[in-house]
Amino acid sequence: MSALGKDGVETIAVSALNQYTYCPRRCALIFMDGEFEDNIHTLRGTDEHDVADRSFHVCATEGVRLEYALPIWSTRLGLSGRCDVVEFHPDATVYPVEYKHGKKQRWLNDDLQLTAQALCLEEMLNIGIERGAIFHRGSQRRREVEFIPGLRAELEKAVSAIRSMLAAGLLPPPLNNQRCPQCSLKNVCLPSVVVAKERNRKAARQLFEVKP
Ligand code: SF4
Repeated sequence: MSALGKDGVETIAVSALNQYTYCPRRCALIFMDGEFEDNIHTLRGTDEHDVADRSFHVCATEGVRLEYALPIWSTRLGLSGRCDVVEFHPDATVYPVEYKHGKKQRWLNDDLQLTAQALCLEEMLNIGIERGAIFHRGSQRRREVEFIPGLRAELEKAVSAIRSMLAAGLLPPPLNNQRCPQCSLKNVCLPSVVVAKERNRKAARQLFEVKP
C-alpha cells in the first residue's frame, strides 16, 4: 500500500474490487476492519492461485512471454495489486489472465477485477489493452473478457464507491441474501442477527409514532 490520497484513503487493492462487487460489507470488513476468515471457497481459491503466486518468475512459451504474480498499480485510480499471469505476445499484445476456482461462469466481480488489472497495465506500459481472460480451474477453460467502455465505467464507479466507503469508515448493512451462506465472514458479519436487530429497532420506534 502507498501513501494516503487526498481523501485520506490508502491505495485500494485491486482485489477489493472483487470483494466490493460481491458484497460491500465484506469488502469493508476485510479492508477497513482487517477481518479475514477462510472457508472451503477461499481455501480452494488460495490453492488454485498457488501456481501463479509461488514466485515472481518469468516463463516463455511459443513466443509468448508469461509473467507470473506481476505487481501492478495505477496512480490515476489509486490502485495496486498483482496479476496472476500476464502474457506478452510477439505482436505486442498484452493479455492479463486471472485464475479463479470453479467452473467457467460469468461473474461481474471477476470481470471488474480483471478490468482493474488491465487499466493498471495500460497506465504502466502506456498501451491499450482490449481483452484478457479468466481461467476457471474447475473446468480448465478460459473465458475471454473484452474491456468495453461499459465495463471500464463500471470499474471507475466501483473504485469511487470503495474510496468513499473507506473514507467514511462506516460498515455497510448486510446483504442477508443467498450470498451469505457461501461467505467466509458470515460468523463475523452475523447478517441475520444485524438485520433482526434493525427490524426490532424500527418496530420499537414505530410504537411511539403518532399517526395522523
Ligand atoms: S455474510 Fe453476507 S452480508 Fe455479511 S459480509 Fe458475507 S456476504 Fe456480506
